Order: sequence, then structure tokens, then C-alpha cells
Amino acid sequence: MWDKKWVIGNWKMNGRLQNNNALMHRFRIMPTADRVVIGLAAPTVYLLQLHNAMQIVLNNRILTCAQDVSRFPNNGAYTGEVSADMMADIGVDIVLIGHSERSLYFGEKNEIQRQKMVNVLNVGLTPLLCVGESLEEREAGREQEVIAHQLSILEGLDTKNIAVAYEPVWAIGTGKVATTGQIADMHAFIHKQILSLCGNDVNIRILYGGSVNAGNAADIFAVPYVDGALVGGASLSYDSFTAIIDAAQES
Ligand code: PEP
Repeated sequence: MWDKKWVIGNWKMNGRLQNNNALMHRFRIMPTADRVVIGLAAPTVYLLQLHNAMQIVLNNRILTCAQDVSRFPNNGAYTGEVSADMMADIGVDIVLIGHSERSLYFGEKNEIQRQKMVNVLNVGLTPLLCVGESLEEREAGREQEVIAHQLSILEGLDTKNIAVAYEPVWAIGTGKVATTGQIADMHAFIHKQILSLCGNDVNIRILYGGSVNAGNAADIFAVPYVDGALVGGASLSYDSFTAIIDAAQES
């Protein structure tokens, strides 16, 4: 898993039982992609459906990913929350932490993200930490400072496996993709930061996210330190998502 490209789809708040099922059945004809770890992050209410379909229809070729998790570790009086332990119970593999839409709409910052990371690691699942700067921060030349602050929550975590998605906020859902030069600079910076925070003996995956599609995926996967993609809009269609998986397999 830690030496393959990852292609993780983030459905955000999209999906319905019947459509999800139809999509899962289409994935049965997906060509072999043995060099790619494939995952889909569905809304929480559909995770069990997805996981069952992955097992029964797809022989676990696609991992079940959650878009978020509670910051509270155990059972308790936390109405509306879903714990990391519950995610593990239904077969989730990877949990997104700190997607920029979580900080934009729910005010999540480092402290909460750190609690979520710890909870996910404690139940044996893989957290995928999302980081990214806003347009104002990039225009002010502060992108590395901002990303370094977001990555600082990785320090001292009890794990040898670190997965991060670099998603410039200005590139998410906008059709604006960072240039390959911008991606190369930031991914090399993130790689260096992870080594200094977590030690030289960690497994690292750094995914790019932000308007990745069938047309630009191959160029993005060719950039050094790009170990995959976190894909929003283009993961909702079988054709575009599998074209991105093909590009990862060929890279
Ligand atoms: C995302 O939601 O993480 C994302 C990158 O979205 P999009 O691919 O639609 O820009």
C-alpha cells in the first residue's frame, strides 16, 4: 500500500442507494490496476453499503474511506457523532481528516484534527490528512508557512505511516489546477517536513487534490513526490474516475 499510487475519490455530500449500487456494479469491469490503491469516500450513511458492495461485488478492489470522524474517542452523549471505533466496526479502511470544507464550514483547526488523527490511529485505521492554503495566503507568499503549521499536528503521532493530501483551497472544485511547478515545490516541501516531524523511517504518501480530472492526471502523476490524487468531482463518474486510475497505473 505504501509503495503504490493512491487514487481516492471524495463524493462529498453526493450519492443515493440506487446510484451507488449501479456505480459499484460498473466497477466490476474496471481493468486491473495492481499498482494503484483505490478508495472511495462516501457520506457516512452509505459507508456500510459501499463496504458490503466492495466485498461482495468487487472482491475488495476498492477501499472504503470515510470523509470525517468524531473527535470524541469513545461511546457517549455526543448526538450526531460517529466514532473511529464505529468506522472500524463497519470495515472502513481510510479516514479523511481536515478537508478544507470541514474548516471552512465547521471551523475545524489543528487541535480538533489532531484528536481525530489520534482516534483513527488508535483503532488501527489509516488517516489521510488534508492540507492546503487559501488564495490570499498564496498571493501573500505564505503557502509554506501555512502548510507547515497544518502539518505540525503530525509530530509525535504513534505511527510509521503518514498519508497527506495537498489540496490548495483555490483549486478545489474550481477547475483551476495548480501548475506542475507549484505542485512539485509544495510536495517536495511536504516530504521534507514529514521527515523532520516524524523521522526518516516513516512510510509516506503525498496525494495532490484540486480539480484533478481525466485530462490532467497523467501530468500530475509525473511530478516528483506526487504519490496519488484525492479526487472530488471527477470521482462521481465511472469514466472519469477510472481514467484517473489508469493514469496512475501507467505512471
Ligand atoms: C476534494 O474534494 O478533495 C477535491 C479535490 O475536489 P475537486 O477534485 O472537485 O476539486
